[in-house]
Amino acid sequence: KLHNTILELKGNIRVFCRVRPLLPDESCSTEGKIFSYPTSMETSGRAIDLAQNGQKHSFTFDKVFTPEASQEEVFVEISQLVQSALDGYKVCIFAYGQTGSGKTYTMMGRPGHPEEKGLIPRSLEQIFQTKQSQQPQGWKYEMQVSMLEIYNETIRDLISTNRSSDATRMENGTPGKQYTIKHDANGNTQVSDLTVVDVQSAREVAFLLNQAANSRSVGKTQMNEQSSRSHFVFTLRIYGVNESTDQQVQGVLNLIDLAGSERLSKSGSTGDRLKETQAINKSLSSLSDVIFALAKKEDHVPFRNSKLTYLLQPCLGGDSKTLMFVNISPDPSSVGESLCSLRFASRVN
Ligand code: ADP
Ligand code: MG
Repeated sequence: KLHNTILELKGNIRVFCRVRPLLPDESCSTEGKIFSYPTSMETSGRAIDLAQNGQKHSFTFDKVFTPEASQEEVFVEISQLVQSALDGYKVCIFAYGQTGSGKTYTMMGRPGHPEEKGLIPRSLEQIFQTKQSQQPQGWKYEMQVSMLEIYNETIRDLISTNRSSDATRMENGTPGKQYTIKHDANGNTQVSDLTVVDVQSAREVAFLLNQAANSRSVGKTQMNEQSSRSHFVFTLRIYGVNESTDQQVQGVLNLIDLAGSERLSKSGSTGDRLKETQAINKSLSSLSDVIFALAKKEDHVPFRNSKLTYLLQPCLGGDSKTLMFVNISPDPSSVGESLCSLRFASRVN
């Protein structure tokens, strides 16, 4: 019920902040803590303060997860949103933050630690469980998965053989598939040439995710740690029909691991690296502009300013639901970036 109130107030956009724990190799500075979590009646569980050079910066979000929050605790807070994709809503969940702040951990989890699996596998398990449990009421669902990354404003397929042929073309400098984005009158998005796979179980999707992660890490060595500089977009389309009532629903769940938000030092950025940085800055600021315009209910929403916002256009406006995680590193050396991330997130909040 609380969720609904927030949704009404915010025009379907919510922001959750998550601070990850210090990693074993990070210096545990004794010079006072950077982050604190005020617990006043009104904002308890929603407030975070950042201390920098003796100055305090205060922020509130729809939810703040402290470093102790488990993957399960985080999932509990989004499971309703995931459920709404089965009810026919278009849902987007983003992870925003600098490289190393915990975006991939939040979305995918920690490889080899099933108990720490992230939002994507947990969401899929919930969706396929619900699919099963609604059969007696006459509901039949069809599900389709696609996965892509957007790198330098170029789309790449992360399923099947398209991926390797894309990489080869990149190396040879020959023009590849265009992956043109089209929206039809019903608000359905088609990306030409993109692989779309019918899936029957969470395990099938896990297999595809695993393949996609591998093809991203192949890119990592070949293309200079590219995964932190590309946006990863996982899309599950849900078509539901009730055989006894003829009711139909079409929902979409988009889970997006964004490119690292860090500002690279200007001096070090030349050539390809500069182009990359500009592309990331452009698409992250376009995303912020779009969410800001939607939250403010402005007439003009600049969806077309980047591939990411144009791709997700039908899933961001209207009665769709958007959640942004802003991931924060507790490392003292990241305090400047953390402040930038919190400011970014409070703008869209
Ligand atoms: P990003 O995707 O933003 O670059 P990662 O998700 O890869 O960052 O996180 C960086 C490191 O921190 C990884 O080793 C990850 O396992 C670890 N990590 C991130 N968040 C948490 C968390 N909440 N609890 C434990 N370890 C975490
Ligand atoms: Mg990552």
